[in-house]
This record gives sequence, C-alpha cells and structure tokens, in this order.
Amino acid sequence: MAAWQLVQQGVAVTVLESGQDPPQGMLIRAFGRNLYRKKPQGGFGSDCQAHRSSGDPGTKWYFSHSLGGLSNRWTGAVPRFAPEDFNEGARLHEKYEWPLSYADLEPYYDRVERLMDVVGSGADVPNLPGGYTADIRDLPADWKRIAACMARLGQGLTTLPIADGPPHLVAKRGTAFNSYTNILQPLMSSRHFDLRRGAHVLRVDWSPERRRAVGVTFRDGSDGREHQLEADAIVLAAGSLHSTRILFDSVSADFPNGLGNGRDLLGRYLHDHPREWWVLETAKPLSRLSPSIYLTRRAYAESEPLLATAWTFGAPSTREKLLGFTGLKSRQFGVQVFGTMVPTPTGRVTPLRGSSDENGASKLDIDVRFDDASLRTLRSAQGRLIELMAAADVPSRVLPVPPDQVAPGSSVHYGGTARMHRSPEYGVVDTWNRLFDCPNVLVCDAACFTTGAEKNPTLTAMALAARACEQLSRDITAGAVRSNG
Ligand SMILES: Cc1cc2nc3c(=O)[nH]c(=O)nc-3n(C[C@H](O)[C@H](O)[C@H](O)COP(=O)(O)OP(=O)(O)OC[C@H]3O[C@@H](n4cnc5c(N)ncnc54)[C@H](O)[C@@H]3O)c2cc1C
Repeated sequence: MAAWQLVQQGVAVTVLESGQDPPQGMLIRAFGRNLYRKKPQGGFGSDCQAHRSSGDPGTKWYFSHSLGGLSNRWTGAVPRFAPEDFNEGARLHEKYEWPLSYADLEPYYDRVERLMDVVGSGADVPNLPGGYTADIRDLPADWKRIAACMARLGQGLTTLPIADGPPHLVAKRGTAFNSYTNILQPLMSSRHFDLRRGAHVLRVDWSPERRRAVGVTFRDGSDGREHQLEADAIVLAAGSLHSTRILFDSVSADFPNGLGNGRDLLGRYLHDHPREWWVLETAKPLSRLSPSIYLTRRAYAESEPLLATAWTFGAPSTREKLLGFTGLKSRQFGVQVFGTMVPTPTGRVTPLRGSSDENGASKLDIDVRFDDASLRTLRSAQGRLIELMAAADVPSRVLPVPPDQVAPGSSVHYGGTARMHRSPEYGVVDTWNRLFDCPNVLVCDAACFTTGAEKNPTLTAMALAARACEQLSRDITAGAVRSNG
C-alpha cells in the first residue's frame, strides 16, 4: 500500500521483496459464493528456526517469504477500527493513546477498501463504523431481528466486511485479495516502479556524516551476496516482527542497540489477539451464514479499558458450508472469538545476538504471554453471546469442543513493536510513521500500532501506510527529506 501511494504521487519506488514466485492456488466463485478454493501448498515460513519463545512456550511466529506474504493465506476480514479504538487506552495511561484520530484515517480506509473490493453491509453499527462496499451483503431476515435486539444492548451484529472481490471470479491464487496480485502487479507498468524479487533486506544503512539513513543492505537470492541500494527514504513493511528485526540489525556507533532504539522501546509492547473457536447450538433453526457475520465488542463505557472481544459466525464444517447452498436452516454455527491484551513494555521481542537465520539476519526471542485479564475477557465471550441470544429470544448453548491452545502468535496478528506515539518517550515512530531517531525511515505495518483493538489489523495497517506515504511524497517533493527536514 505504501508503494501504491508513493507511485500514485510520482515518487520512484523500488520494492525489495524476499519472495520469488507468483501466488499459487485456485479460487472459483460464482454469484458471490466460493465454489472451489485451494490455498497454496506447503507450510508457513520456518517459524521454529526463526525464533525462541521465552514467554509462553506455545508462542508461534507464522510468516511467509513470498510475493503477497500472508495475504496468500488470509481470510480477508477487514473491519475498520472505531473512533474510540484510538483513544480509549488513555483511560489507563497516556501511553495508550494513538497520536491520530479516526477522522484522520477515514479517507485512507475508504481508499484501501476500494482497492480491496470489500463486500459487506457498509452500514454503521454500534462499535463498528461502516465503510465503502463494492457489493452490499445484508443479514438474513431472522438474523436481522436478532441484530435489532443486540443493538439495544449496545452491540452490533452485521455481515463481516471482507475483501472478497467481484461476485464472479476465477483466479490462480488462494484468496480474492492478494497484495502482490492486486496491488504490486498493476504498478509494474509504471516507470516509477521497480520490484526486485528474492531481495532479502538485512539492515538499513545509516550515515554518521549525513545524520540520516542512506539506503539498505540486502541479500540477493540469485547470487547469495550482499548488495546495497541507495534511497532518499526507506519504508519498512515486512510484517511486524520482520520490520522490527531489520531495525534491530541496523546497528551503528550512533545506534548500538538498533536504529530507532535510542530509548530502548523497539520490540516492546508486543501484542496479539488471544483466539478461540467453538460451536454455538441454538434451540431453533436459523439461516445458515454465508458470508460470515460479525458481532462487535461490548460498549466501551461498560468494558475495562483495552479489554474486549469480537465474534465471527460462520459454518462449523465443510458439510455445513455445502448445505448453505440449499437454503435449509441450521442449529449449529462456528464462532471465532478474537480478544485483546493490554500491551506492556515487558511483552517484547529482542534479537538473539550471535544467532542468525539462513539469510544472515538475527533470530528473535519472543517473550510474551496473555495475562489473566486478557484470558478472562476471552473466556467471558461464550457467556456474553448466550446472554445476547437469549435477549433476542433464541436460547442457545456452546457445544463442548476440544479446547484451542490459546497461545501468542496463533492469530497471526502481531503488532506494537515499533509503536506510534506523539512523544518519543512512548513511541518509536511519530504520527506519520517516521522513526523519531531517523525520520527518513518509516515503519508501515502493524508494528506501528499503539494498541491492538479486537478488530483484524490489516485494513488499519494499510490505511496508516497510505496516510504516511502521502505525507512522505509531499516531503520528498518539497525537498524536506534530503535536507533532513
Ligand atoms: C490464515 C490467516 C488468516 C488471516 N486472516 C486475516 C483477516 O481475516 N483479516 C486480517 O486483517 N488479517 C488476517 N490475517 C493476517 C494478515 O495476513 C496479516 O496481517 C497481513 O498479511 C500483514 O501484512 P504485511 O504486509 O504487514 O506482512 P506479510 O503479509 O507478512 O508480508 C510481508 C512481506 O514482506 C516480505 N519480507 C519479509 N521480510 C523481508 C525482508 N527482510 N526483506 C524483504 N522482504 C521481506 C515477505 O516476503 C512478504 O512479502 C490472516 C493471516 C493468516 C495466516
């Protein structure tokens, strides 16, 4: 998204991308329903090779060094953050307040949603603003009645906003929206754009004389050697932990603990969504759900700060998915819950100095656990849903299912390790995603999140990238970047 924004404004961009091969898989869709979907073969990146878990031993780190990254495998749920998500943390401490507001980000949400062909209801519901939708999908009538009751209790029930693309689609990839196919590939025809595949960035190069970053060093997969590329500005968007690792590895006499880490904040405030999946059985049959539907968090005023859950309902099995085509009703619904955690300085990643992966980059130590408050909030989600359904006159129960292992990383929503704040006392980057210590380096993925709302992160990360790079292109045009302005 950063590259897209810069190229639109006539700035020459070189993307260094670790991945080599075009996306794989297959997706066949008719009348807005997936008929066949095959995700790419093979597993995720070498997660066990790339980190040590010194917090929760079950900690995972999923990543994908491929064109399109994790968007080769993602679901595509793209709820916007609500206005309160940017400032409710201030109830706890000023360090939890974002340096920008929902209004600042709103135009960029719209821009990204258009690129993603989002489908959904598009309407505002409690605790979730509506957005641009290429195709409107409404709740079935019986669920609409339930939604009206839940809204009276302060929670919104709506179709899940999802980057689902056009209603009819045959594509050689596993997901409708893939960041390589849908964003980078169309830029190839621009004379301002260059994509270098198999280019694994190792560090940002700092010039002590010029007091700025002057380029990056990367390992080229074709010859296995290190190369340098000069640049006026550098945007890191390699996924939260990879961007953080690049900064840690960018060591110099001026920044012995890594670029942007002058105040020992880099890598801290790591957060992820604790996640659970279970089956809700209702006393009476209800319409099967395709697309999935989304129940928003409890009202902010009645929740502890930064502690919330959101629920996504869909088919609990492939058989149920297929039955969805028949129009018959069901009494069983799969429910996925994402909770939140309050990020703290002790939940962190640090480089394991002296150890390196196959590219020569430091391995990471991930030291994070979900605390009691976070797990308590997650576990309260079953009771709250049963209460809401009962208020809508639908008695229900949760079926016993093998418990999920609730471990950090399993939601694949890491963020916060290069957080944004108005003050360098609490932030690694400023309100335009620029390192306080080196403003011609930007961090434009979820590493910049000040806090992690219960909503899926990718839309917000992309909107922030668009906003930051619109400003960066203005600064480049004005000559402010070269003059360290
Ligand atoms: C099964 C699954 C379902 C998901 N569902 C959702 C969802 O519904 N909604 C949602 O919001 N999110 C979802 N996610 C998470 C979502 O995929 C990520 O938030 C998103 O892809 C992050 O984008 P990113 O570009 O920051 O990082 P990535 O997608 O990880 O991309 C990073 C890119 O950087 C490249 N790279 C990494 N290191 C280097 C380096 N050193 N040098 C050069 N290039 C490098 C990689 O090759 C890759 O192309 C899901 C993830 C999974 C696995």
